[in-house]
Amino acid sequence: MPTSYVCADCDYEFSFEGTEGDPRCPKCGRTEAVEPADTSALQSDIWRQWLVVFAILFIAGLAYVFYR
Ligand SMILES: [Zn+2]
Repeated sequence: MPTSYVCADCDYEFSFEGTEGDPRCPKCGRTEAVEPADTSALQSDIWRQWLVVFAILFIAGLAYVFYR
């Protein structure tokens, strides 16, 4: 059963059936950026990105209050 992987470097999703070695991204050839594709993990990644955005906005707001 092929496992789906996603490359964190170029966002390319592919399936890897081999049992030897690390799955390699067919697009950019990296192995270290390849992660198993999991929809729930992807969802939490999106939430983490939004959290980062909100954190930056919050810090920017604080900086505005302190330095104006
Ligand atoms: Zn890649």
